[in-house]
Amino acid sequence: MTQKRIAIFGSTGSIGRQALDVIAANPTLFSAEILTAQSNDELLIKQALDFQPNAVVIGDERKYINVKESLAHTNTKVFAGEDALEQVAAMDSYDMMLAAIVGYAGLRPTLKAIEAGKPVALANKETLVVAGDIIMRMAMEKRIPIIPVDSEHSAIFQCLVGEGKNRIEKIVLTASGGPFLGKKPNFLVNVKKDHALQHPNWSMGAKITIDSATLMNKGLEMIEAKWLFNLSHDQVQVLVHPQSIIHSMVQFEDGSIKAQMGLPDMKLPIQYAMAFPQRIQNDFPRYDFRKPNTLTFEEPDIKTFRNLALAMEALKQGGNMPCILNAANEIAVYAFLRNRIGFLDMTELVERTMARISFLPNPTLEEYFETDGEARNFAASLIHM
Ligand code: NAD
Ligand code: MG
Repeated sequence: MTQKRIAIFGSTGSIGRQALDVIAANPTLFSAEILTAQSNDELLIKQALDFQPNAVVIGDERKYINVKESLAHTNTKVFAGEDALEQVAAMDSYDMMLAAIVGYAGLRPTLKAIEAGKPVALANKETLVVAGDIIMRMAMEKRIPIIPVDSEHSAIFQCLVGEGKNRIEKIVLTASGGPFLGKKPNFLVNVKKDHALQHPNWSMGAKITIDSATLMNKGLEMIEAKWLFNLSHDQVQVLVHPQSIIHSMVQFEDGSIKAQMGLPDMKLPIQYAMAFPQRIQNDFPRYDFRKPNTLTFEEPDIKTFRNLALAMEALKQGGNMPCILNAANEIAVYAFLRNRIGFLDMTELVERTMARISFLPNPTLEEYFETDGEARNFAASLIHM
């Protein structure tokens, strides 16, 4: 394998930092060509000094001067602002984008990378939730792979290697159940952000940690899976598996089920996506079946965790409904993180926004952008009331 130059969009986040660990451990296989961050200038500077990328982007323009001056003695080019993200994504000099920005903000740079014909290792699930049809169509036209980094989708992807055109009967996405597994609404109504930010099995950014606590994350993942693996809504199932050892499963037409397993560690799907189709040796801890252990499975409680039911509804309806769901959810999660609304209010905000914004069965990209804006404005207006 020749050295792959990776552009990490969102390098200061949980996924981005772990990707840099993978690069540091495999310097002959990978280099960091582009790094981007929204506001953490100090960490971006440190990463740039360590990895000497060709270019960095700081989203927050007020921090440009600090980054520029701190890297003045290096060969790293420094850019700032939202447009710079797209310009850099269109650059020639990298081989693969790792899309690790959180939320809708990741969509435009990823579109640019695909347009430029770059393979994408995709952590940013919101991109597919918002405009999965367009992303997958463009990737097909450009003949570039979208390789999932999300652990469940990496599991499915790994199960499908070598299966050619063999038909999938269904896939089963496993869910840890999050910190509030088994809890009921009378408990959830009083949940505060500090408690919701404690995930039992994974250490992740704040937004996805809250999404995991509400089960919205699993709903977004159902939609993500539909697009990645070209499935209909009733081929995607969710099963709660609190130990997070089976990362997901595929059931084929003959009834045979394949699962991908291991200890929960995002570095594994990250390095798999970056090195695909190769596997790389590492020293991560191994799962041991001989140790006392029990793997358990149960149906998700969608009456309590209604975000998952709403996402299933959006998945079924299609069109711009997942885009509406996603926009309202982003507003809801950030309002919850600022202690503006309660845990269960997040669901209400999403539900009311889905009922309000006009449904479009076949949106253009422009219409997805408009839908996102309208849904955000409406959801935000509910908070100010
Ligand atoms: P995070 O919050 O830790 O990091 C987000 C990164 O995006 C940071 O580098 C930040 O600077 C950047 N960013 C934030 N807002 C931005 C904006 N408006 N414009 C440009 N850049 C911006 O998030 P994370 O946990 O690393 O998750 C990143 C993505 O990967 C999410 O879509 C998440 O759903 C997905 N994902 C994460 C995990 C995980 O274990 N963390 C697992 C599966 C999928
Ligand atoms: Mg996941």
